[in-house]
Amino acid sequence: MKTIKLLLPCFLVTAALLSCNKKKLTEVVEVPLPAAEEKVTLGQPDDVKADEGTFAMAKLPYAYDALAPNLDALTMEIHYSKHYLTYTNNLNRLIAGTEQEKLPIEELIAKLDMSNADLRNNAGGYYNHTLFFEGMAPKAGGAPKDTLAVAINRDFGSFDNFKTAFSDAASKQFGSGWAWLITDRAGKLQVISTPNQDNPLMPQMPIKGTPILGLDVWEHAYYLNFRYKRKNYIDNFFNAINWTKVNERYEDAMRRKY
Ligand code: MN
Repeated sequence: MKTIKLLLPCFLVTAALLSCNKKKLTEVVEVPLPAAEEKVTLGQPDDVKADEGTFAMAKLPYAYDALAPNLDALTMEIHYSKHYLTYTNNLNRLIAGTEQEKLPIEELIAKLDMSNADLRNNAGGYYNHTLFFEGMAPKAGGAPKDTLAVAINRDFGSFDNFKTAFSDAASKQFGSGWAWLITDRAGKLQVISTPNQDNPLMPQMPIKGTPILGLDVWEHAYYLNFRYKRKNYIDNFFNAINWTKVNERYEDAMRRKY
């Protein structure tokens, strides 16, 4: 049987080649697809290990598929296990053997030499992604409670006003960047956006403050699932915000005087 199985395709190919010779060269020859489909297997966040270095990746407190359908599993996996990992490794490599290794990340960023693009991008990338991944949770979203709810009403008038301001900042950030909810240097909540991996802790920022909620609007954060529809991604992010965590950050910022 094996011989027949092998001979038959050989015969067909030969016949096709012979018949091709007689036909016009412009004829399209159909190429068969591989029989086995390529299977995408999701990894586990715990399997992701940064190289040895000062700063560790935040442990993802949920599975890659736990935020679906708001944020899809494959985007989450690539974002966490590739992008975030790379920023972490680059940051650690850039500061190895320097005084910056002794600083908390917030202080390292606040004291950045902004002309050092490599360190600016990777320190920002590390900090921003840590905040982003920890700011989401399964079965989350809705509106904040606690002290943050009071502060949002005080500074934006209502939660809906805040949501509109934040969505606008995220939509209108041209190109790659981030939208933020921050406590500014007077303790007031503000919504801002920054380009690239900048954040409002950095020197020379037009509005400085402590980020308590961050949304990544780089295309890698949404393009697989939402394609060019950044607005849909922003709407879905609101269903995944871990307001308990954001409230903790708010109270912490208030305690430390922003
Ligand atoms: Mn990102």
